[in-house]
Amino acid sequence: MTKAPLYSRDKAALSTLQKLRFFPLAVERGEGCYLIEEGGRRLLDLSASWGAASLGHGHPALRRAIDGALSGQAGASILSGTNAVAVELAETLLRLTPGAAERRVWLGHSGSDANETVARVLPAATGRPRIMAFSGAYHGGTQGSMAVSGHSAQEGVAKDGGLTLVPYPDPFRPFEGDASGQALLDHIEHLLETTCPGEDVAGFFLEPIQADGGLIVPPTGFLAGLAKLCARYGILTVCDEVKVGLARTGSLHCYMHEGFTPDILVLGKGLGGGLPISAVIGPAWVMDHATAFSMQTLHGNPVCAAAALAVLDRIGAEHLADAARTTGEVLTGCLRAGATEIPQIGDIRGRGLAIGVELVDPQTNAPDPDLARKTVYRAWQLGAVFYYVGMQSNVLELTPPLTLTAQQAEEGAALLLQAVTDASAGLVSNAEVAPFAGW
Ligand SMILES: *Cc1c(COP(=O)(O)O)cnc(C)c1O
Repeated sequence: MTKAPLYSRDKAALSTLQKLRFFPLAVERGEGCYLIEEGGRRLLDLSASWGAASLGHGHPALRRAIDGALSGQAGASILSGTNAVAVELAETLLRLTPGAAERRVWLGHSGSDANETVARVLPAATGRPRIMAFSGAYHGGTQGSMAVSGHSAQEGVAKDGGLTLVPYPDPFRPFEGDASGQALLDHIEHLLETTCPGEDVAGFFLEPIQADGGLIVPPTGFLAGLAKLCARYGILTVCDEVKVGLARTGSLHCYMHEGFTPDILVLGKGLGGGLPISAVIGPAWVMDHATAFSMQTLHGNPVCAAAALAVLDRIGAEHLADAARTTGEVLTGCLRAGATEIPQIGDIRGRGLAIGVELVDPQTNAPDPDLARKTVYRAWQLGAVFYYVGMQSNVLELTPPLTLTAQQAEEGAALLLQAVTDASAGLVSNAEVAPFAGW
């Protein structure tokens, strides 16, 4: 008996609760920067599963590390006994992350549990009830991480009672028409002086590039200004680099472009190269606040910790931050060159291999979510995988493996440009994309 196609078996066996589908992608294997569908079709992976497959698929160093950790496995947890791999990972993260104060590392499974832990411990450790964050922010999919997020996809989810959201500085669609971000900084300062008293705020969650909010790069100096403002009130800055951290933007940490050092750094996705692991690095007085405060059984398991160590090792040995910067320049350069012929491309932005392409109505500059939906679908037909983000669902997001070659970058840009052109010309029908609405 022959089996049904993989995509229909998925439909019958796997829950819809965790599906966010853009086209009927059904992958059997991966190889470097390619995903291989059932039937053998090869697709250039320009998403890397939202940045998680940071070394591409099946990197030999990752395989060696995981195999090594499983042979003679040092337990499965750090809850009630430590293990050498997890300690080595924490020490490595501390070494790679500048900071003057005494600090500690917390290890989790995902960006969500990491941000949730920070959102819980900050009020507890500081005695301050309030949290600030940006509208458009995606800090996770668990109750506690959604409670401090501001993304439109999570409308209707209960927010933290002490949460205050402010607009993210978007140079393409600026707050009060001020692309410098100063008007927004003034607005935040006003809030801290009035309705959201600064001395009541425990922490300010920020993404140094707001990824799911639309791959928005803040104007130069904004985050440094915000950090200064926070410091004045004793508010801890929480830098969520789950998607854009660890070499992706051309420096090891994305905040390094911005001239400030956050109090707390959150890592995830690419840290494990495809295995589930996240990390929070923060001051000891916060991270040692209480015992058994935020833990799950498999936290710190040696297999995922070994994967993370291998990723960090490859980032150094293969100079992946430099590679992301130069390959990103190739990719962005090709996109910009082609975009001059495509008026629906309103903006191309990013750093390194975190790139956003905003699709608009050329007449009004209004967001065009319908075109984004059809473009990613068309790109999948043509042989490239990437998705869209944004509060208006109209920004194509590229977060390919850090190992992408210049030639693959050129190939990817050509596929994306062709997809926008084809989708604009009506080559994708409403019926084809109808099953994939909802983000
Ligand atoms: C994906 C993401 C998260 C959540 O991470 P999960 O691993 O999905 O739990 C948090 N913050 C940012 C910025 C993200 O991109």
